[in-house]
Amino acid sequence: MTRAALESLPDEHPVILGLEDVRVHYPMGKDWLGRPKALAHALNGIDLQVRAGETLGVVGESGCGKSTLAQLLMGLIKPTSGKLEWIYNNAKERSSNVQIVFQDPQSSLDPRLPVWKVITEPLFVQRSAPRRDMRDIAAKVASQVGIRTEYMDRFPHQFSGGQRQRIAIARALSSNPDIIVLDEPTSALDISVQAQILNLLAELQRSRDLTYILISHNVSVVRHMADRVAVMYLGQIVELGSAAEVLERPRHPYTQLLLEAVPRLGVAVDDAQVSAPTELPGNRNLPTGCFFRDRCPKATVGCDKPQALLPARGAAGAEWVRCHLQSV
Ligand code: SF4
Repeated sequence: MTRAALESLPDEHPVILGLEDVRVHYPMGKDWLGRPKALAHALNGIDLQVRAGETLGVVGESGCGKSTLAQLLMGLIKPTSGKLEWIYNNAKERSSNVQIVFQDPQSSLDPRLPVWKVITEPLFVQRSAPRRDMRDIAAKVASQVGIRTEYMDRFPHQFSGGQRQRIAIARALSSNPDIIVLDEPTSALDISVQAQILNLLAELQRSRDLTYILISHNVSVVRHMADRVAVMYLGQIVELGSAAEVLERPRHPYTQLLLEAVPRLGVAVDDAQVSAPTELPGNRNLPTGCFFRDRCPKATVGCDKPQALLPARGAAGAEWVRCHLQSV
């Protein structure tokens, strides 16, 4: 585990997840002998630790590896190489219970199931509770997210968008997960209910000591919720640190480029979206040296060498950056 992964963490909660030099490569296309024509390099050496009770924001453009990281944590794909370990009571495990709240509750909830079955779907899949208890469990979790217990026999389409997202949160909670991945949790909702959902997530985190991985393009959402932020570019973390430092004093040229599109602090940023002015290169053939070199306005001598995630120069806390101009 790199020092970066270890040190930019709040200490008060135990580490529950460690990733060490994790790589995920996919075969793409097949030649006439059935051999893969190329490899997509989705994750390219992720070192990270997650502590119980924190919210880690993950930002970057589409194709930067955020979704692959989420799939990896959920056990849907395996690392091509590297180590992913869950840690409980100092013992290392290979798997864990990770649930996800998707962006669009309209499409993520099964329209044929009554709400109590939607909420307890993870328990059915895991067979982790007796069937006779499912309804009571659903009602209990529903009341915690603000859904009335007498609505348990209704169907998802009978609820508003905000209520459906509450049901999706209840489903994620029902199996007492170790981590909940929040994948753009408010971006499909009306502005008027976004704040309610964010407040609900914050309240649930406090009362249940939940751990969130927040994937979002929306800087104001990340600023509102995250304790730490990881900025991803071409399957690498290029900057990692406290949300305040990364979002207000970005060091890596890529983070600066992303945030330049966003109004500065003090200006309304509700609709601020992370986007960069030039295109993310494909991940079939990785660049040599710094992955960001072809797009970087500050590229100079030394950028043709591979860059490691190192302590940021002049940082008060534990901030880490993958750029030799910014690191010590
Ligand atoms: Fe830019 Fe060079 Fe830093 Fe890469 S290492 S981000 S190319 S200045």
